[in-house]
Amino acid sequence: MPRVLLLLPTTSYRTPDFLAAASALGLDVTVASEEASTMERLNPSGLLTLDFGDLAACGDRVVAFAAATPLDAVLGVDERTAVAAAAIAARLGLPHPSVAAVAAAGNKAVMRERLAQAGVASPRHRLFSRMADPRVAGRGVGYPCVLKPTFLAASRGVIRADDASQFVAAWERIARILAEPAVAKRGGAAAAEILVEDFVAGEEVALEGLLTGGELRVLALFDKPDPLDGPFFEETIYVTPSRHAAAVQRGCADATAAAARALGLREGPIHAELRVDGPRVCVIEIAARSIGGLCSRTLRFGMGMSLEELILRHALGREIPGAEREAAAAGVMMIPIPGAGILQEVGGLDAARAVPGIEEVTISARVGSRLVPLPEGDRYLGFIFSRAATPERAEAALREAHARLEFRI
Ligand code: ADP
Ligand code: CA
Repeated sequence: MPRVLLLLPTTSYRTPDFLAAASALGLDVTVASEEASTMERLNPSGLLTLDFGDLAACGDRVVAFAAATPLDAVLGVDERTAVAAAAIAARLGLPHPSVAAVAAAGNKAVMRERLAQAGVASPRHRLFSRMADPRVAGRGVGYPCVLKPTFLAASRGVIRADDASQFVAAWERIARILAEPAVAKRGGAAAAEILVEDFVAGEEVALEGLLTGGELRVLALFDKPDPLDGPFFEETIYVTPSRHAAAVQRGCADATAAAARALGLREGPIHAELRVDGPRVCVIEIAARSIGGLCSRTLRFGMGMSLEELILRHALGREIPGAEREAAAAGVMMIPIPGAGILQEVGGLDAARAVPGIEEVTISARVGSRLVPLPEGDRYLGFIFSRAATPERAEAALREAHARLEFRI
């Protein structure tokens, strides 16, 4: 059996779906995570501990490991592990996306530079040191603008400012996030940066794609029907297929392909966010990974293939039979966090699941755990999944199910 090395951060939502896909494909799996597991000694070919931030050490460790246990593919699941996976695959002589390209996609300031140089429509930006004086920095930018860290995800630390006083408040709030020990360690030099961009108005979409030999295959285009106007950018509903006109959808695919070229990304999964304003399309972000959270569960391809299975097939250089998404519409709601505090009880689950079109309601936050809203938080409360004949119905089902849930915090 081919063996795949999966780089899975201990807190990843993606673990069960990648493991299920590997098992469906009959693959042997080695899981690498950052924290040593007591199981490692019992299962030496199945578990590995790696410091994903140290690419050279990751490479050394896996080369030694692979001498006894050969590996056929290496995959990461988020920005950081995608870089490590590319670097490890390079050391093993396996096909891999460009390490520099994946690293460029993982830093929003580098990404903005590359997109601007290549003439890909994306917001004007300026990069600051967080040691700079925000009162001075805020005088040199246009409003409204968006301030953000360069290396975090899930909208963590992304804040809109409409004037100089909001700019200073946003800056100080981001600086506090960047100073958290775990964040500072992970970010390294990037934890000293704050990126400021023009706020781009418009409706947001997300494009899930797969690059093969530099060719972009669009796997799904999601509309985000709830407005994302800030000051924080909590993601809620994703619905596919998109209801935008065909020309706009082509524009999104073209802009994403151009963004991938600008970064030098030619292989593997990508997840892009774009804003659509009339006929204009602007790239907010392109990441060298697949969709986050549990959102991939909305997607089914060909004869019921999951996104993770499709990605594993690509990583192994296999044919991908039928990468067409199923005909039905599908949606997911990342359940908004209603407030800060300890989650005490979730009510209405049965009623929510009974809504026609609802496939599943998953509360991923544990009862008794602390809920932290954006911009500081980085965990989801839960997910609602729907499938229906049309995107309108898939969206309505999510809203109805959500209305039936009650959270005691
Ligand atoms: P993350 O990697 O945390 O998702 P993003 O840069 O993608 O960071 O920002 C998160 C969300 O914030 C985006 O999906 C978008 O809704 C909003 N956003 C970010 N930058 C801008 C911008 N320049 N203009 C308008 N909205 C933005
Ligand atoms: Ca994003």
